Amino acid sequence: MHRVVSTLNKPVLRFAPSPNGYLHLGHALSALICQEWAQALDGRFLLRIEDTDLSRSRPHYTEAIYDDLAWLGLSWEEPVRIQSEHLKDFETALTQLYADGLAYPAPASRKEIARAVEQLDGETIDWPRDPDGSPHYPFGDRDRRERLDVMPEDCPIRLDMHAALEKLAVMRLPEKRMTSLTSAPETTMTDPSVWGDVLLRGRDRPATYHLAVVVDDALQGITHVVRGLDLEQATSIHRLLQELLGLPAPIYHHHRLITGKDGRKLSKSEGAKSLRSLRRAGLSAEAVRARLLDTRQS
Ligand code: GLU
Repeated sequence: MHRVVSTLNKPVLRFAPSPNGYLHLGHALSALICQEWAQALDGRFLLRIEDTDLSRSRPHYTEAIYDDLAWLGLSWEEPVRIQSEHLKDFETALTQLYADGLAYPAPASRKEIARAVEQLDGETIDWPRDPDGSPHYPFGDRDRRERLDVMPEDCPIRLDMHAALEKLAVMRLPEKRMTSLTSAPETTMTDPSVWGDVLLRGRDRPATYHLAVVVDDALQGITHVVRGLDLEQATSIHRLLQELLGLPAPIYHHHRLITGKDGRKLSKSEGAKSLRSLRRAGLSAEAVRARLLDTRQS
């Protein structure tokens, strides 16, 4: 009799690069660890192309991602989810936040924001910045009395952090983490307010990374998010958006960033070398894999 292997209830993991450049060793490490976790957990391994930043994403980088990952020896389930083909899903989530009074139109350009913040920096001790270094939105557009009932099209939209925390009546949110494959999940509390009124939709971004990642992790049933420590701080805003949108929260593992043989951070030039330039220089995929898996400590 034909045996059907059920994928129901299996852990689901994903590697989710952005096609705005060639993959480098840091991406390779992330992809390898993610696949290693998927195998160890007897889970599924998905690939997602995060290309909602229309000004920076290029189809030829997407093709290069498939090619480089296959060269590295990775395989993933088809079809690959390409975010730009599902913009409606992000708009639906954004409309929900807007209708709930948790998002507002914020038309100021990056230049206008920078100029206003420059002034504020002189007046205040330090205008707050989010963990990525972007200044908190310095204008008063969040005033609810001014808000249109229907979300305007073609205007950047920001999350109203104050309204969001007020709605949930919390200051911090629980985040489930696993520090290693063998450790039990533990819960820590994270503080999303450090992100301020994050951008959810930009002029050339129908959905920003933070919005798109939580929507797609939920739609794809991701149970374990395995990604680099450089994204650890982003998890607090992802947890907040999940709560506001009523989406399930995955377990998070943030792996170490690449280090050299001596345990120190790889130099910029070494770390930033694209996989294809290493391949062209004659390095084998086995050597890259051995090098990366050998030098990481988690
Ligand atoms: N697309 C993101 C990046 O390339 C990673 C997304 C994630 O793993 O959450 O940095």
